[in-house]
Amino acid sequence: AGATVGRCMAQVAMVMNLDKCIGCHTCSVTCKQTWTNRPGAEYIWFNNVETKPGVGYPRGYEDQKRWKGGWELGRRGRLNLKAGGRLRKLATIFYNPELPSLDDFYEPWTYDYEKLVTAPLSDSFPSARPKSQLTGRDMRPVHGPNWDDDLAGAAAYAAADPNLEGLSEQVRMEFEQAFMFYLPRICEHCLNPSCVASCPSGAMYKREEDGIVLVDQDRCRGWRFCVSGCPYKKVYFNHRTGKAEKCTFCYPRIEAGQPTICSETCVGRLRHLGVMLYDADAVLKAASVEDDKDLYEAQLSVFLDPHDPDVLAAAERDGIAHDWIQAAQRSPVYSLIKRHRVALPLHPEYRTMPMVWYVPPLSPVTDAVHATGYDEADPDRVFAAIESLRIPMEYLANLFTAGDTAVVAGVLRRLTAMRAHMRGVQLGDPVDEE
Ligand code: SF4
Ligand code: SF4
Repeated sequence: AGATVGRCMAQVAMVMNLDKCIGCHTCSVTCKQTWTNRPGAEYIWFNNVETKPGVGYPRGYEDQKRWKGGWELGRRGRLNLKAGGRLRKLATIFYNPELPSLDDFYEPWTYDYEKLVTAPLSDSFPSARPKSQLTGRDMRPVHGPNWDDDLAGAAAYAAADPNLEGLSEQVRMEFEQAFMFYLPRICEHCLNPSCVASCPSGAMYKREEDGIVLVDQDRCRGWRFCVSGCPYKKVYFNHRTGKAEKCTFCYPRIEAGQPTICSETCVGRLRHLGVMLYDADAVLKAASVEDDKDLYEAQLSVFLDPHDPDVLAAAERDGIAHDWIQAAQRSPVYSLIKRHRVALPLHPEYRTMPMVWYVPPLSPVTDAVHATGYDEADPDRVFAAIESLRIPMEYLANLFTAGDTAVVAGVLRRLTAMRAHMRGVQLGDPVDEE
C-alpha cells in the first residue's frame, strides 16, 4: 500500500491573501512583542511587511547577485543545479563576505515626542528628507524596516491640488498608473532550506514532525553563514548573544494547537494556516528542474493529495500522526495552493522550495467585469479585464513565478471569476463549494 508514493512527510505552511493586507503592521508588532522584544534583537523582525514595489528588508535582499559569495553558482548566476538541487556552499568558513550590514537594516531610534508637541503650527505637510549617514561613493539615504511606505509623495501633491488639475499630463499619467501593495514576510520554512545547508555547526535544523526550521541556540557558533545563505534574508544575527535567530513559526503555539501569533492578530484575516503532506523523495528533483518555467508545476507536484488512498497508506506507513493527517485533509492551504491553484510561491527561482505562498493581489477591482457581471460563456471578456489590471502582470510574475506571466494570468483569471460570481450571489442562495 502506498508503494507509488515516496517518503511521506508533513509540513506546516501558510498562504497569505495579498488583496486583504492593509499594511497595518499589527503582525510585525505582535510578533516582536512575543519573540524579539530583547536587547540585541532591536532590528530583528521575524515578521515584516514590505511595500511593493520597493527595496524590501533588508534593503535589496532580492538582488541575488549581491549575495553570491555564499553559494556555488551555476549558469546564468543561479544556484548550481549540478548539485542535484542541494544547495552547496562555495565559501570556506574563513570567507563569508556577503552579509547585509546594519545600513541595509536600520538603526533603531527613539521618537522625540517632545518636539511633536512643541513644534510650531504649519500649513504644510512635514517634508523631512532622507538623510545620508555616509558620504561620497557610499552615500545612501537612511533606511527603515518599511522605508518605501514612508516615501510616498502623492499626499503632498493631493493636499495642494485635490483634483490634480494643476499637474502636467505626464505627472497625471504617473498618478494614474501608480500601483502598490503590501507583502508581509516571515521565514519560508523551506522544503530545501539553504540556511540549514550552510550552517557549519549543524545548529540550523528542520523538524521532522512539522518542517519548522529552527536554530539550536546551544550549538550556534555565530558563523552567520545562514544569514548569507538564506536568499530571503530571514535569518538575523543577535549581536548581544552572538547567535543566529529566526522566525520559529510560533512552534510552542503550534504544538498547543494554536495559530501563529501573526495569524491570530492579523487585522485583515488574510493568513491561512494548514498542514501539507509532501513526497520528501521528490523535493531535490523538483528543486533542480532546469527551466525556471517548470518550477511552479514541479513544486506543486511534491504536494500529496491528503484524500488519495495511496497517500493515506503512505502517511500511515511513514508514521504521520492521525491528527496531522486529519489537519492536512481540512487544510485551507492545500485547497488554495493545489486544489484551486490560486496561491503562488515567493521567488521560486531561489529553489529552496518555500512554504509560505501568496494569493496575488487583484486590486483595483476591474470595472469591466463588475459592471456587467461574469458571463461563463464569455471567459474572454474576463480575461480582457484582467489585462487591464493596474498592477502589471510582469511585476507579479517576477515575484511569484520566475517571470512566467501565463501562470499569473491563470490565477488572476480564477480569482476574477470567483469574485464576480460571488458578487452575483444573493444572501441565502446555496453556495456552490466547487
Ligand atoms: Fe532557511 Fe531562509 Fe528558507 Fe527560512 S526562508 S527556511 S531562513 S532558507
Ligand atoms: Fe497585513 Fe494582517 Fe499584517 Fe495588518 S496584521 S499588515 S493586515 S498581514
